[in-house]
Amino acid sequence: MGYVYDDQNIFAKILRGEIPNDTVLETEHSLAFRDINPQAPTHVLVIPKGRYVTFDHFAAEASDAELLDYVRAVGEVCRITAVSPDGGDGYRMIANAGAHGVQEVPHLHVHVLGGRVLGRMLPLR
Ligand code: 5GP
Repeated sequence: MGYVYDDQNIFAKILRGEIPNDTVLETEHSLAFRDINPQAPTHVLVIPKGRYVTFDHFAAEASDAELLDYVRAVGEVCRITAVSPDGGDGYRMIANAGAHGVQEVPHLHVHVLGGRVLGRMLPLR
């Protein structure tokens, strides 16, 4: 058991500066950037800078400083992109994990989606 982090995943390359990104926010422990294939007018990915595969991996092994920074960064992205219901029209956060979650990139990322009505949560049965 245990999480195996792949240093060659695309977000690791973004964090190393090997691939460009459209940054929305950078903090000490987190980076937020626009998804290359947006599914809504606002589609931002928020990632920790540390080597975490999934949300549960991060929750189990990240430091308090990383956890605090990341949660605050996600909230700040909602404010920066004006999707927060505090002045905006709302959003959805998604964190896919593993095979059933259909996670493509094995580095934790929360999707922040907004700018249109997003429909019901799970269209497939
Ligand atoms: P997942 O299916 O793992 O939850 O989502 C991965 C997301 O990463 C997808 O929405 C995909 O469009 C996005 N993505 C994949 N490669 C890149 C890239 O090189 N740059 C950016 N900005 N997003 C990417």
